[in-house]
Amino acid sequence: MKKINTDVLIVGAGPVGLFSVFELGQLGIKSCIVDCLDEIGGQCSALYPEKPIYDIPAYPVINAQELILNLNKQMKPFNPKVLLNQQVEKIIDLDNSFKVFTSSNNEISTKCIFIAAGNGAFGPNKPPIKNIEKFENKSVFYSVKNKSIFDDKTIAIAGGGDSAVDWAIELSKNARKIFFIHRREKLRAAPKNVEMLKSLEKKNVEFIIPFQLDSINGKDGLINELIVKDLDNNKKKINTDFFLPFFGLSNDLGPIKNWELEIEKNILKVDQSTCKTSKDRIYAIGDVCTYNGKLKLILTGFSEAAIAAHACYNTVHPEKVLHFEYSTTKGINKT
Ligand SMILES: Cc1cc2nc3c(=O)[nH]c(=O)nc-3n(C[C@H](O)[C@H](O)[C@H](O)COP(=O)(O)OP(=O)(O)OC[C@H]3O[C@@H](n4cnc5c(N)ncnc54)[C@H](O)[C@@H]3O)c2cc1C
Repeated sequence: MKKINTDVLIVGAGPVGLFSVFELGQLGIKSCIVDCLDEIGGQCSALYPEKPIYDIPAYPVINAQELILNLNKQMKPFNPKVLLNQQVEKIIDLDNSFKVFTSSNNEISTKCIFIAAGNGAFGPNKPPIKNIEKFENKSVFYSVKNKSIFDDKTIAIAGGGDSAVDWAIELSKNARKIFFIHRREKLRAAPKNVEMLKSLEKKNVEFIIPFQLDSINGKDGLINELIVKDLDNNKKKINTDFFLPFFGLSNDLGPIKNWELEIEKNILKVDQSTCKTSKDRIYAIGDVCTYNGKLKLILTGFSEAAIAAHACYNTVHPEKVLHFEYSTTKGINKT
């Protein structure tokens, strides 16, 4: 067991957790960041690293992974402890500090906690296909990390939401053929994109609708054929190189649900002016928090990181008075 001492423990190394290291660091507050995934970046790195983002202020366009690399660079001067591959599980409230335990048996003593856990310790919703795990990361992928492996290939994409439709459009640019599988006629994705996808039927997209998934055949992790069935159980074979099921994420806050915080529909309620949860010294920022008018956007989370960092200052440094300063005045890492 490793024992770590810090001012603020940040649960979640998504974009918002990473930016909070910077905001805390600028105020002379030490932080340690924990994530259950094996890399930093949260949804940006795990789900859409190669997608362009258009609504980060001052970046007309930036790829999700590039944004994470920049955030990593921005937090580096503050030298945070980054613990990956472990979930934050249990907390003990010691009145003016917390003891926190992770699934790798690390024990972290901290004055405050920032929960930046997004949708929770997330994983993809998997289709109910026997033996699918034998094909995972070889010919079945739940997210796209490297588009180029799909060039000139045949891809079966299943799902009816934004991810399925967006990726079908994007990958159709270089793929040989896309089979788009959905169990209903109606797709839930943005209507404009659904229209665009339909127009690609003339090019290289074939709709397999309304069909459900049945089974996969193949060898050594490589798909040979995907079997689908219609509502009358008539089966159809699809010869494909890859299968990308996009059935959303399971969003379960997991152990955080046992921390006795006020929760509404799996999201933590906070006071918007401080981002404080229902418990003193625990703040929630980014997708995991809610208040009236909350927008689940990266830029909103960045602002919440700054608000929470200022709000916790007096708890971390009760002996000091916080004088607000712009970064242009203060510079970097000078407290
Ligand atoms: C396909 C797609 C496109 C998007 N496009 C945009 C866009 O254009 N613009 C925009 O602003 N937003 C976009 N978003 C939303 C954006 O990605 C999220 O708002 C953002 O990632 C939220 O950041 P976060 O840091 O709050 O949480 P997340 O990115 O979800 O990160 C949370 C992290 O916490 C970790 N975690 C959870 N629980 C625990 C625990 N108990 N212990 C340890 N670690 C834990 C998770 O593993 C995860 O890494 C998009 C989302 C998707 C899926």
